[in-house]
Formats: sequence, structure tokens, C-alpha cells
Amino acid sequence: MTSNIIPVNEMHKVDPVFGQISFDGHEQVVFCHDKDTGLKAIIGIHNTILGPALGGTRMWNYTNEWEALNDVLRLSRGMSFKSSISGLNLGGGKAVIIGDAKTQKTPELMRKFGEFVNSLSGKYITAEDVGMETKDMDTVREVTPYVTGISESKGGSGNPSPITAYGVYMGMKAASKYQFGTDNLEGKKILVQGIGHVGEVLVEHLTKDGAIVTISDINEDRLHQVGAKYGAKIFKGESLYSADVDIYAPCALGATINDDTIKLIKAKVIAGAANNQLANEVIHGQILKDKGILYAPDFLINAGGVINVYSELAKLSKAEVMEKTENIYNTSLEIFKHADANNITTHQAALLIAQKRIDDRKKEKAQ
Ligand code: NAD
Repeated sequence: MTSNIIPVNEMHKVDPVFGQISFDGHEQVVFCHDKDTGLKAIIGIHNTILGPALGGTRMWNYTNEWEALNDVLRLSRGMSFKSSISGLNLGGGKAVIIGDAKTQKTPELMRKFGEFVNSLSGKYITAEDVGMETKDMDTVREVTPYVTGISESKGGSGNPSPITAYGVYMGMKAASKYQFGTDNLEGKKILVQGIGHVGEVLVEHLTKDGAIVTISDINEDRLHQVGAKYGAKIFKGESLYSADVDIYAPCALGATINDDTIKLIKAKVIAGAANNQLANEVIHGQILKDKGILYAPDFLINAGGVINVYSELAKLSKAEVMEKTENIYNTSLEIFKHADANNITTHQAALLIAQKRIDDRKKEKAQ
């Protein structure tokens, strides 16, 4: 299994696309450009063995194109494993749009992006990710049917974030059960980093359960809003990572568990929504294991969102979506046990199980 990480400032030292470690066998990578709208996007299609490559579109002001490429490749690969481990008949894909979602996102740009998605004839199906709203997917829907996460009023499944948050909550409860012997989060000190669409709903579940929740975000206004609404403490201090908490929930962006932060972490459980939390999934996964920190694999516990958008394609009812999302609790416990029994990291255990489902389907198809 590759570690799929290469420092962004070293990416130019290898071949630009096929040579990247994060390339990891992608079937197709599509570069999309439109001068009139300023669109610069990359669509990564990692694997379509289980079904069409479904994954959200992220709009982010990347420092450079290498960073955007690395992000889309890592994210689309993650989607293959996320859908596989969740038992969905979907492959893995993801898209990034380079730019500031607050100032550069226009309906014209979103429609142009939709036209590129449409040109792939359903091999890639998009949805929302960071920097996107349900209404943006409605705009994309004007030019292509290959989009999910559209408004309920337009026949879609709406905003996936509350379901993602519910799945993360289920994964966190399972991790608490395994690590602390109880899935009751009352009195547990929990740090939620990033209180956006998913983080806020997670904070709601946790505070309802009586957990002692501390929040952190780069958006000061949201911090005060969410803090006041749910009675959560706002993190104040030098180092977030060395905070004295039982559970750390990364719900902002990826790679927050890295060489610098990992030595500081005091939490005994890590369970959050962010994709690609481990900067290096092999090295950092192993260090967490050695430190006795239980890591709930991100792609396993943040699958609620993809389960929800999948319901638009597979015509699942709300009850079926909730049941599948709730099952993240059981799957997480199985993964933790499997990892311990085989003396491997929880991330490796989840990857192996996800990869096996893809390999088995490939064999079936070849017969
Ligand atoms: P969002 O953009 O609504 O929220 C992210 C929040 O993180 C924002 O409030 C932002 O200000 C904050 N943030 C950014 N950098 C930060 C930092 N350095 N420190 C603290 N806070 C910071 O995004 P979201 O939809 O809530 O998604 C959160 C994470 O979960 C992302 O990594 C996303 O890829 C992942 N995820 C989301 C879904 C979903 O359904 N929305 C599904 C699966 C995975």
C-alpha cells in the first residue's frame, strides 16, 4: 500500500501526473479550463470498478497547481475506499476548482464546470465538498444530470453534511466504546477543529450527550455563534494539538496529523470528518498506534455524506440512509478489532477490507 504523500515543494522532482505517489493508479485525470469564466478545475477518477466515480467538488484557493493536483488525487483515491467500505456500488472520484469560493464562484463558472462533468458521460458524478453549497449543485444540474446533493425541492437529497456528522458521531461512539469501554460521551472532553457544515452538527450531537466540547475555527464569527448556541468552549491557548482532551475531532481540512502535531497529541481517540487526516497514512498511522491513540479511519466514519447522495442514484429512502449511516458504528468496531488481531493500524485494516471488495468485484467482472 503506498503512503500517497509527497511534500508539495518536492512534487516537481518527479513526473507531473503518472509519477506522483498520489497518482496511485488513477484511471483518468481531467484538466478543465475556460478562459471566459476563469474556470481551472481538475477531475480525478481513481477507480470505477464498483460503479461510477462519485465524489464532491472542492473549491479552494490553492497556493499552486501542484497542491491542487495532489489534493484531488488524494481525495479521489479516498473516495474509492470510502464507497467500497460502505458497501456502495460506487467508484472513487473527486474534483477541485482552483479559486476563492467567496469571491470567484459565479453561476457561469459552475455551469461551465458542469459542462466538463457532462462531457464524461456519467463516469464521474459530482456533489458538494468544501466551498460548495447545495445551490451550486442545483446550478450544475442545469447542464448535466451527473450531479448529486441537489436541493430536496428539485428531487435531490439536499445538504449531506448533517448525515456526515451523524456518521462521524457513530464512529466516535464506537471508538469511545473500544478505547474507554463506553460509548456514552457524557463528560468526555472533546475538541472539534473546524465548525463548518459538518463540525457544527457534530457539536450539536456531542453537547446533547453532555460531552464537554471545545471548538476551534479560523472563522471568529462562527466560533462565537456556535459556541453560544451549544454552550461549547472556544479553544484558547498556544497549541491546539496538545489540548488536554479525550477525543480530537478534525473537521476542517486534511493532514492535521503530521510530523509536527503528532508528538503533541494528548487525546486517546481521534475521530473526525476531515478527509485525509493523516499526512502520511503509513508513518503517522503507525505512530498513533504506537502511542496507544485509537484512530477512527476518516474515510470510514465520514461516509454518511456519500451514503446520502448515493440515495439519489440508488433510490434509497431516508430510513435506509440513516440505517446505513448508523452501521458505521458496527463497521468501526469490526475494523478496530481486525486491526488489533492482525497487529496493523486501523487505517491499514480499513484499507485492506475496502481494497478486497474492489478486487473481488474485478475478478467477478473478469469471469
Ligand atoms: P466547511 O467548509 O463547511 O467547514 C470547514 C470549517 O473549517 C470552516 O468553518 C473553516 O473556517 C474551518 N477551518 C479551515 N481551516 C481551519 C483551521 N486551520 N483550523 C480550524 N478551522 C479551520 O466544510 P465541511 O463541509 O464542514 O467539511 C469539513 C471536512 O469534512 C472537510 O475536510 C470535508 O472534506 C470533510 N467531509 C465533509 C463532508 C460533507 O458532507 N460536508 C463529507 C465527508 C467529508
